[in-house]
Amino acid sequence: MLRDICRYVQGTYHIFLFYSRYLSVLHEIHDCLPTLAGMETLQAANLSNAPVSWSRKIDSEKVKAYNAALQELKNKLRSITGAGPDFSSFVLPTVVLIRCAAIAACLLVGWRTALLVSCLQFIVAPYSFAVATLHIFTNLVELVMHYTIHATVLWIAAASNLSSPHAMPFTPGFAMLFLAVDQLLNLAVYLKYNVRLPFTALLKHVIYGFLNTKTVTALLLLALCDSPRKLDLSVWVMTGILTWYAGPWLQSRFYRLSGLPSFSVLFYHQHRIAHLPGVYPCAHKFHHFYAETTAFDAHIYGSGLPEEFWWIVVEVLLWNQFGFMPYTLNARVLYDTLCNKFGHTRFKDGHGINHHADHHKYSNVNYGSEFGIPFEMVMLTNSDNSSYDIKVHGCDVVQAHGFRVPAARLQRTEDAKTITLSCHSLTLVPRSS
Ligand SMILES: [Zn+2]
Ligand SMILES: [Zn+2]
Repeated sequence: MLRDICRYVQGTYHIFLFYSRYLSVLHEIHDCLPTLAGMETLQAANLSNAPVSWSRKIDSEKVKAYNAALQELKNKLRSITGAGPDFSSFVLPTVVLIRCAAIAACLLVGWRTALLVSCLQFIVAPYSFAVATLHIFTNLVELVMHYTIHATVLWIAAASNLSSPHAMPFTPGFAMLFLAVDQLLNLAVYLKYNVRLPFTALLKHVIYGFLNTKTVTALLLLALCDSPRKLDLSVWVMTGILTWYAGPWLQSRFYRLSGLPSFSVLFYHQHRIAHLPGVYPCAHKFHHFYAETTAFDAHIYGSGLPEEFWWIVVEVLLWNQFGFMPYTLNARVLYDTLCNKFGHTRFKDGHGINHHADHHKYSNVNYGSEFGIPFEMVMLTNSDNSSYDIKVHGCDVVQAHGFRVPAARLQRTEDAKTITLSCHSLTLVPRSS
C-alpha cells in the first residue's frame, strides 16, 4: 500500500515536471500560428466571400522535442504505475459511489463533510489529483475574471446602496429545476442536430451522462443550499452582462499580465496529459466511456467526473464563506455550457464541425477545439494532418456551435527543419435543407 502511494506520488511529480517544462514550448509553437483573433479575421473575410490564404513556417525541432518528451513521460509512467487502476471494475464504481456518498453527506450532514468525502477519490484514483489540478489551472484566468467582475458588481451595489427586491435562495427545488431544464436542452439539441443513435444507446448516454456530468452540478447546487445567503438577481444580471462585454478585454489583459499562454494551449497540454497511460483511467476516461458522444455527455468544458474536484471546492467555498456567486452560474458560463452541448454533438452532415466528436471516436486525435486545428496539425495530433478541410454547413450551425470557423483548406508539409502550414479559403457549402 505504502509502496503504491510512493509510486503514484513519483508519477505525479513527473507529470507536473513535464507540464511546467513544456508549457512554454507549446506556447512558442502556438504563437507562430494565427491567433484566435486571426482566425476570426479570416472568418470575417471568408464570410464576405473574399479569398483568404496564409502560410506559416514553424521550427520542427520544437514539435519533435515536445512529442519526444511526452513519449518519454509515457514510458516513465508505464514503468512506475503500469496501466494504473482498472477502470471498469474498480475506478468507475468506486468513484461514482464516492460521489453518491458526497451528495448524501451534503444532504444529511453538510457541505464540509461532503467535500471531505469527495477527497476519497484521490485514494482510489490517485492521478486524479494531478488531472483535476491542471484542469482548474487551465481555466484560472476565466475564474479570476469571473470573481473580479462579480466582486466589482457587489462593491458597486453595496456602495450605492442598491439592493434588488428580487433575491433567490438556493434550494433543493432550484437544483432539481436547473437539472431538469439542462436535460431538456440536451434532448432538444440531440433531436435537432445529432445523428440518430439506437434507443438503448441513447438511454445509456442519458443515464451515464447524468452520472458523469450532472452529479457535479447536483453536489454544487445542494452544497450552496447550506448557506442562508440569497443570490441578488440584479447582481447576477450585471455580472453576466459585464462578463459578456468586458470579459474578452479583461481576459486578454489577465493573460498578458500573468504571462500564461492562451486557453487553447493550456487546454491542449492538460488534455494530452489526461490521456497518458495510468493517468487516463484515474480521471479523463470517465469522459470517454462511450465512443460516441451526445449533448448528454457535455458539461461546461466536457470532462470526467473526478476532473471537477477543485471546481466544486472553489465554487462552494467562495459562496458559503464569502458570498461570491459560483462561476457555473455566470450567464456567460451558462452560454458556454450550452455551446458545449453542440461541441459534443455528431452533426448529420458535419464536416470539420465534428472535430471533437471524432476525438471521442478515435481517442488519440483532436485534443483541442476547432479553433486549434492549425496548431493540432502542426503537433501531428489532428485526425488528418496532411490536409484538412474546415467546412461549415450554414451559419446557424456555426453560431449554435459557439465557434465562428472559416471554411478553409489547411495543408501541412515538413522538411528536415521546418513545418509549413498553409491555408486557402474554400467556397462556403450551401446550407443543407
Ligand atoms: Zn479526451
Ligand atoms: Zn469531449
